[in-house]
Amino acid sequence: MSEFEYDRPLPLMAGFAKQFYEHCGRGELRFQRCTGCGKWRHVPRHSCAECGSWDWEWARSSGRARVFTWTVVRRPMHPDFVEAVPYAPVVVEMEEGVRLVSWVVDCAPEALRRGLPVEVFFESATSEVTLPKFRLADARD
Ligand SMILES: [Zn+2]
Repeated sequence: MSEFEYDRPLPLMAGFAKQFYEHCGRGELRFQRCTGCGKWRHVPRHSCAECGSWDWEWARSSGRARVFTWTVVRRPMHPDFVEAVPYAPVVVEMEEGVRLVSWVVDCAPEALRRGLPVEVFFESATSEVTLPKFRLADARD
């Protein structure tokens, strides 16, 4: 559990998002996986775009991913991010094939490269919300 006070916008804890972040709170990154055809998906939705099935489960991800793409924010678009610039919202592609927008915390924006191996860790933002973030895979302890 981190000690700092989180002062940025938080996800709305409702519906599928609430379930997703509750798994994060248990230290598990889980995505929906169709129990009809096995296809992983994110962001969460009711039916499978591959086979149309309504049946799915929250399946645990390995937590391993690669940098897919990113952008560098130099001018904050929200007052809570003034101190953060420049920063890079990163889209990571999980081993399972789903993509997630997050942060790579130990990598300066100019050092990001497509395909860079990263792995998830969890940062407790509040007593209710735990955020999945990423660090370079080589930095594992
Ligand atoms: Zn399916």
